[in-house]
Amino acid sequence: MPSIYADTVIRNANIITIDSSRPRAEALAMLHGRFAAVGTADDVSDWVGPDTRVLDMDGKTVLPGFIDAHIHVLNSGIRHVMAADCAQPTIAAIQEELRKRVAVTPAGQWVQGFKFDDTKTAENRFLYRADLDAVSTEHPILVAHRAGHVYYMNSLGMELAGFNSETPDPSGGRLGRDPDTGELDGVVYERAIEPVRFGLIPVETPEIRREGLRTICGMLNEAGLTSVHDARVTAEEFTTYQEGYKEGDLSLRVYCLLYYPHFPALRDAGVVAGLGDDRLRIGGIKMVADGAIATRTAYLSAPYEGSCCDYGILAMEADEINERVMEMHKAGFQVCIHANGDSTIDMVVSAYERAQKAYPRPDPRHRIEHCTLVNPDLLSRMKALGAVATPFCTYVYYHGEKMPFYGEERLRWMFAQRSFLDYGVISTGATDYPPGPFEPLMGIQSCVTRTDSEGRLWGENQKVTVEEALRIYTLHGAYAGFEENIKGSIETGKLADLVVLGEDPTAVDPLTIKDIPVMQTIVGGETVYGG
Ligand SMILES: [Zn+2]
Repeated sequence: MPSIYADTVIRNANIITIDSSRPRAEALAMLHGRFAAVGTADDVSDWVGPDTRVLDMDGKTVLPGFIDAHIHVLNSGIRHVMAADCAQPTIAAIQEELRKRVAVTPAGQWVQGFKFDDTKTAENRFLYRADLDAVSTEHPILVAHRAGHVYYMNSLGMELAGFNSETPDPSGGRLGRDPDTGELDGVVYERAIEPVRFGLIPVETPEIRREGLRTICGMLNEAGLTSVHDARVTAEEFTTYQEGYKEGDLSLRVYCLLYYPHFPALRDAGVVAGLGDDRLRIGGIKMVADGAIATRTAYLSAPYEGSCCDYGILAMEADEINERVMEMHKAGFQVCIHANGDSTIDMVVSAYERAQKAYPRPDPRHRIEHCTLVNPDLLSRMKALGAVATPFCTYVYYHGEKMPFYGEERLRWMFAQRSFLDYGVISTGATDYPPGPFEPLMGIQSCVTRTDSEGRLWGENQKVTVEEALRIYTLHGAYAGFEENIKGSIETGKLADLVVLGEDPTAVDPLTIKDIPVMQTIVGGETVYGG
């Protein structure tokens, strides 16, 4: 009999705990932000005191809160506040959205757009400078593909960036050119955009960043997410996270992958990975080694389907990867490198092997972000290293029209959740939003069915069970941030993070998992959505 009472008790629930010693329960008690008891109605009844909030779930399903281990959290929150939403069905509609931003922006100031996706427009093509010049010649314009990695600028933007037909392609990037005239067409690939994004365009104001934080926390809580790994955090964003935390706006737990240029200062200040607390923590250091799957710039060992010699774009040479991995590993950080193509993953795995050999660490858990196209050799070496993969979970469902660029043979080894499980490599739930939609239930459906929104199957051999997908989206995400002892399952002593669903994902037609309503999301015992 406890001498204290719970803050909240949940009963009459179908609790899927993700704790293998007790997979299901019907009641739980929460106290001071943690689970105080989990079990039958009887196990929990003693925790109900006069002030305890008792929630009768009427048989609804309760799961540990979902964890997205690679998502662009604050950056996309800020875009939702200040940029045009270019996820539109036609180029004319995109121009219309951009014009709305132009109308409220003084001449000479940047207008930005995000979530443009060429294959989802009726025209099925990229944006070019002429499309954007038609929107404004008085405002520099920068539109991002929803995958990032490829950008589109108008003539004024290109001029301010100093890009002209004489400009050589920078290392790790490319400027799109008209094949006949050699003139720049406004498309900017990979690292060629860095001086614009991180030098030319002013950083958003602190107020916009704070509004972005509130916006994205609300959106993600509504989808059942309680923890996220922000996949590239800049100095200004880290400041915003700290302000939001202090002021009570941070309704998600955030594990920050800090952007590589901040690494030397952290190292020199004696910081190592893990600093912070269970709400806001410095995790790994993020770098990008190749292109994106959705823009077909991932660097592959064999060319894209239907092309003779397009292997994608390598953003970092092997020497640079080796050198940086060595210094981050030596300084005690978790290294998190974006690598999609098999050739790139091979370079990153080799760099991890060299670093671990030179300076052995007991459990570095270096990560391969996305880790999209694998093979048995890579999987075995990742297992030996204890490396973690964070593959895209909503791509097969959402980006079906892009799958033919890769072809069925390659898709047998892409977004390879089944293979990660079979080889004993820990892989997480992750969406990379904005590139993929962030809804965890869509991710779970996609990994379980490998079926796109039109009903086509891609890489069927990589299917996982619903139970496996739930574990990937909870406990595995916690593991990727060294937090499996404090979250990722519903167990006594762990953080009281959970989501209440209208139906049991293990009991419905797998092709309808994404339609299950999220009823309530609880973080640290506090309801942050619904209820
Ligand atoms: Zn990313």
